[in-house]
Amino acid sequence: MHYQTKTIVQQSLDALSENQAFLIDLKGEERNRAFSSLASILSTPNKVHKSFLRMPLENGKVVRIPSFRVHHNDTFGPYKGGIRFHESVNEEEVINLAFLMTLKNSLHNIPFGGGKGGIVIDPREYSLKELNIISRKYVQYFADVIGPDKDIPAPDLGSSEREMDWMMAEYKSIKPGQPYRGSFTGKSVVNGGSLGRREATGKGVYFSFRYMLHDFLTNQKDWLIKNDTIYAKTAIEEAKHPLKIAVQGFGNVGSVAALEAHSCKYLQNKVVAVSDRNVTLHNEDGLDILGLVKFIAGNENDLPSTNEQLEKSGIKATILDRDNLLTLNVDVLILAALEDQIHRKNMEQIKAKIIVEGANAPTTAEADKYLSEKGVIIIPDILANAGGVIVSYFEWLQGRKTQFYNEKEVFDMLYLQMKETMDTILPKFFGDSFPLRQNCYIHSVMKLSVVLYKQGKLY
Ligand code: GLU
Repeated sequence: MHYQTKTIVQQSLDALSENQAFLIDLKGEERNRAFSSLASILSTPNKVHKSFLRMPLENGKVVRIPSFRVHHNDTFGPYKGGIRFHESVNEEEVINLAFLMTLKNSLHNIPFGGGKGGIVIDPREYSLKELNIISRKYVQYFADVIGPDKDIPAPDLGSSEREMDWMMAEYKSIKPGQPYRGSFTGKSVVNGGSLGRREATGKGVYFSFRYMLHDFLTNQKDWLIKNDTIYAKTAIEEAKHPLKIAVQGFGNVGSVAALEAHSCKYLQNKVVAVSDRNVTLHNEDGLDILGLVKFIAGNENDLPSTNEQLEKSGIKATILDRDNLLTLNVDVLILAALEDQIHRKNMEQIKAKIIVEGANAPTTAEADKYLSEKGVIIIPDILANAGGVIVSYFEWLQGRKTQFYNEKEVFDMLYLQMKETMDTILPKFFGDSFPLRQNCYIHSVMKLSVVLYKQGKLY
């Protein structure tokens, strides 16, 4: 797997280095040295922690489970990022995900650095008791490198508030007498979690799309005429008719984003397709998203996959192969499953004009370039899916004060934070020739560079 993060960061640094007004005091050889320092700092993680959790299974066997915690960069504060429970987790992937967290936090002004963790298991193959032991073992093995002011894990793919509650409790017993609420975020509300954290990523994903299309473009008409780029034209055309939306992934992110799209009062949307690890469900007239959300709650989070199940639950849809969703004739594709979903083999069949990255790194470098050059707007992961870490930050703050916000306050603050980022990035994107991802990276890298320079780190 080739990740494009490093390449785009390098391109961003090149663009910044050519702009003599940026870090104006740095000139000539000193400037070159500073920019190569930046490249080496950002493209390498500070530390990679790796352990093999020794785990007694219920069948009597004892296995060792590879697990990671990566500290990418802490320029803006303690390392922060989720712990992924998935069979495909590997070191290179966790490093890339930690790198994305550094960029994401910088982009959205979150005072955290970038970290990430991973445990190489398919959580569906373990019992509840085993998952509890694995979660606690993870904390035992990494207890010295995590903590409320060092590195604050959160849920990611395959983990949820249940694991965060277990992990926080384990941390509390390993480090008695220390503040523990801020050691993990994404906990359940009764356990010190924030209202709205569970929905935050999905809500933020939809918000990023709605804000760009509705709020930003409708308020910027005069300005858009001056900068009538291929992107602007496409987006305006799309906003004129009911938008056909397909959502890949119907988990914590996809199901919430689909619900938001379905019930949006600002845009006329029709969610015509959703998919999960088994199937795609398609209905040109729009799917009953609420019905599907209810269905998965009683079906181990899986969508209906037989006509019998569809009939029984009163949901009208055609069942297609899982990956068919990506190439359907839709206006908008929300990618909320795994990484590496749009790639060389399917990029030419993608019909959507707007792609929203709810998952991290769902588009390969090659597909990203190909689609951007065709005028497809890709709202990139670090911009679109930051809702989770933004509300994690609110959770961490609330834990410090032991005072809690209500749900409305949380969502208002989330949207305000994302709006501020979008208001900084979007005018640049519609005004220059860089794709939106590149604009986000430039902005993020710029902030990191200034702070590293002022701290005297660019020797
Ligand atoms: N795992 C989420 C992400 O990739 C959330 C991280 C967090 O809340 O710290 O952004």
